[in-house]
Parts: sequence; structure tokens; C-alpha cells
Amino acid sequence: MARILITSAIPYINGIKHLGNLVGSQLPADLFARFNRAMGHEVMFICATDEHGTPAELAAAKAGKPVEDYCAEMHQVQSELAKGFRLSFDHFGRSSSQRNHKLTQHFAGKLAENGLIAEVSEKQVFSIDDNRFLPDRYITGTCPNCGYEAARGDQCENCTKQLDPTDLIDPRSSISGSTNLEVRETKHLYLKQRALRDKLEAWIDSKTDWPILTTSIAKKWLNDGDGLQDRGITRDLYWGIPVRKGDQPWPGMEGKVFYVWFDAPIEYIACTAEWADANGKTDADWERWWRTDKGAADVTYYQFMGKDNVPFHTLSFPATILGSGEPWKLVDYLKSFNYLNYDGGQFSTSQGRGVFMDQALSILPADYWRWWLLSHAPESADSEFTWENFQASVNKDLADVLGNLVSRVTKFAVSKFGNQVPAGGEFGPLETALIADLGARIADYTAHMQAMEVRKAAAELRAIWVIGNEYLQSAAPWSVVKTDPAQAQAIIRLALNLIRVYAVLSAPFIPDASEAMLKAMGTADRSWPHDVPAAMRALPAGHEFSVPENLFRKITDEERADWQARFSGIRS
Ligand SMILES: [Zn+2]
Repeated sequence: MARILITSAIPYINGIKHLGNLVGSQLPADLFARFNRAMGHEVMFICATDEHGTPAELAAAKAGKPVEDYCAEMHQVQSELAKGFRLSFDHFGRSSSQRNHKLTQHFAGKLAENGLIAEVSEKQVFSIDDNRFLPDRYITGTCPNCGYEAARGDQCENCTKQLDPTDLIDPRSSISGSTNLEVRETKHLYLKQRALRDKLEAWIDSKTDWPILTTSIAKKWLNDGDGLQDRGITRDLYWGIPVRKGDQPWPGMEGKVFYVWFDAPIEYIACTAEWADANGKTDADWERWWRTDKGAADVTYYQFMGKDNVPFHTLSFPATILGSGEPWKLVDYLKSFNYLNYDGGQFSTSQGRGVFMDQALSILPADYWRWWLLSHAPESADSEFTWENFQASVNKDLADVLGNLVSRVTKFAVSKFGNQVPAGGEFGPLETALIADLGARIADYTAHMQAMEVRKAAAELRAIWVIGNEYLQSAAPWSVVKTDPAQAQAIIRLALNLIRVYAVLSAPFIPDASEAMLKAMGTADRSWPHDVPAAMRALPAGHEFSVPENLFRKITDEERADWQARFSGIRS
């Protein structure tokens, strides 16, 4: 039994995520967590909401709520949606937790002790009417690059150029609209990433099994232009983790908070501590996942994220950990995803374009979405959601291939032999061939799942469903029953066992359908069919089963057209 730590990139708090976000980290991480539990490994699967920074403050102001209340509410909303999609986190935490406050301050203190923090005086825009500094999105003005008049202090949305608030032409406060601004001196902390460059490069070079996509992104940031830069880790904001040096005050930094990019990844660790708190565990219980001096030496750590998050996870967060000089667990394997596009364009949170998690669940259960998204995961390249493809995939793979097999076999069995696994006949050449074929395919499927090859795994699972249908087609129990009832019983005995095996294999992709299949088969035996001949006899003659409700329904052309129209424009 291995110990597997899995983290999904943590979703930002300001709103409901779309399906592109879901398939870029949380959903494939869940697939991998479920698979590893099924393998009998000890799994810790962690996710949280990313709650600090100016977007949260501004969204709360727009909603007319204190930012603490806004974040608490949105965390609840995201938590419910995660449950709706059957994301099996061991804990879904919050980056605003006291655990993260303490750990973030701890890391900053250690980095300072090791000479890796610089205090830098810089000029920032101060709003006299608002009586505060205006970092990032708190300031709006005309882009010096393209002339767009509503560019934000951190980036121009029109031309995507990264900006500094002092770059803007005709700047104004995003809070009050005031132009009564001046540039003032303020002091900030910088993490000296340049000093850690060689250590980071040596660590990345040691990861010979990482995908090219991952290492090439990391290397680009390390080496391009002037190379890796020192980065500000504090902000003049109200909402965030107060700047402290461990448990001591940080003179000169009063009233400032850590910048969200610094505290967000530390939440992976803090969230595991939150898990311990929520489950009556001790510090030792979470530390054995994260501290190599306290039991985590045998943990393998996997991270899941969209490709835009790779630099943070290969450079910034490791810089924090390596710089601390403490034996914290570093990532072993990083699985990154390209983008999912939507019906000829992009998903867009700001424009409300595409299908959002709440909308998806309001029209179809989680399994339909899980299957399509995972079987079309944007791994080697971007992929695209279209309603035609979604309808075709659901109707064919789920309804025709899997659902129909389960329905046909159980109904026929009950009508001819009653609700117990029939005892007659022996397995013949067709059954032996199917078992051999299944053995090879299940081994391939298991290997793809282990390697986090999501699309290949989905394709193999679909092929495993298909060969069951082909077997039934050839074995034809509905004809055989007329001439050789004992042989028909043997066919059905195998087919009922096949349903249990399908339930076990399919559980990481479609957990609800899997549960329904196991319940209908009257079993809680979830053992992975490493030994296929034995698995095909797991439900013995005389074992009771029932006919399940229809597992999957088809999507009609009218529904498809209706949804296509409904989700084409701006989210209301
Ligand atoms: Zn611009």
C-alpha cells in the first residue's frame, strides 16, 4: 500500500466556476484520488477556496457585503457544487483559515531568517479621498499600450499587457472614482527568488519523469530574459493574512498583508491541518503527509492544475519551501492541463460565456458531465465542448453502450430465471475469449489510470464496455435460451458478474452509476478485477440481484437545441 497526496489547484472565491475550470484540475484530481483508493492506497485529497486579494474585496463591495461574509457564503456555494459533482476531497478548506494565517507567517519568518526576504521601498498610488493605497485592480485608467480606457492596475483586459498601477494614463480609484491621487512611498517585502534560482533549477532537472509541457514552462521562467525575478509578497490591503515574522510583529509592516500568490499554495498544507482539526486528529496526523522528518518520506505527492498555474507550482511555491530550509514535502509529479474551449470560442467568467457548474447540475446529473469532460480532457492540446459532441457522447457511450447492456441483461435474467444468479451450464470458448480480452484491457486501463493519462483511460474503459456488448451479441442468450437453457444461464451468470466489474472499473469516472449498478447486483464488493477469471465468479449462483432504474437517459435534439441557445450568451 502506497501513500498518495493529491492537491487540486484551488479555485478563486469570487464566483461559480465553469466546466473549463472544473476539468482543468478538480475533476481529474478526483478521478486519480478515486482510482488510488480503489487500488487500496492511503490517499489524502485536498482542495480549498483561494480567498484573498483584490478581486475578492471588489466582488464583496459589489455585492454590498463585508468581505468575510462574502467569502464564507461563496465558500459554501463552491463546497455544495463540489459535492454535487461528487468531488471526493478529504477536505475542502479555506485559504483564509487560521491554520493558513499561522503557516504563512511561519514560512515568511523562516525565509527572513535565511536572508531570503528583502524590504523594498517603492512608489505606489495613494487615494487621498479613499485614504488608502490603490494596488492592482483598485485603480483604473487608460492603457499606455493600446489606449483602452478601462485598463486595471495589474493588467489591461483588452491587450492583456501586464501593468503596474503607476503606468496608467488618467488613473482613477476603482472604489470612489476619485482622481485625487498621489504617488507615495510604501515599504514591501520581496522574496529573493533569484537567490534560489540554482537550487530550483537543480530540483527541476532532477524531475526526469515530468512531462515536457511542465518542464519547458518552468525553464522558460527560470531562464528567459533576465531570468527568474524577485517577487513582492506583501500588499497594502485590508483583506489578507497580516504580515508577521512567524509569531512576532514585523516592524514597519503594520497594516499590510501577504500577497495572495504567496499564501494560496501554502493553503495546500494548511488545508491538511484543517482536515485534522475537522476530524478530531492531531498535528502528527497531518504532518505525516507533509514533513519528511515526521513520516512523509514515503508519500508521493501529485498536483493537478491548468497550464497557467505551472509557474507558481514549479517555481514560486517550491521557492517558498526550499527557502524555508525545513523538510517540507515538495511535489513529485505535476499534471497540467490545456484549456477547454466552448462552442467555437472561449469559456469566460467575466463575460459569463459557457456552462457554469451550477447550471450544468441543474440540467443533468454529475455523471453525464464527468464522463464527457474526462473523456475529452484537454491533455495534449486544447479541446472544445460542443453540444453536438456532448449529446453524441452521452447517448452513445453512456446510454447505448453501458446503460443498455445493464438494462438488457438484468431484465432478461429476471424474466427467464428469476432474481438470483442462475446456476446452469459452464463457461465455453466465447466466455474464455472474453475473459482473456478483458484481462489485457483491464491491465491497460489500470496502467493509463496510474499514469494519469485521462483520455486514454476513458477510451480503454469505453472499449471494455464495448467488448461486453459484442460478447452478448455473439453469445445471444435470448436465442440460446430456446435450445439450451443451461448455456443461456452460464452466459447470464457471466454477464451479471460483468456488470459488477463494470461498476468497479467505472467508479472513478461515473460514481453514481457505479453505486446504482453495485446496489442492483446486491453487492458491496468493490475489489479491483486484477484477477479477471476470479472476478467473473465473484457473484455466485443463487446470489440475489435486481433490475436497476435506467442508468442514463438520452439527450433529445430539442433539449440540445434549447441548451445551446440558453448558454450561448451572457449569464444573467
Ligand atoms: Zn491595453
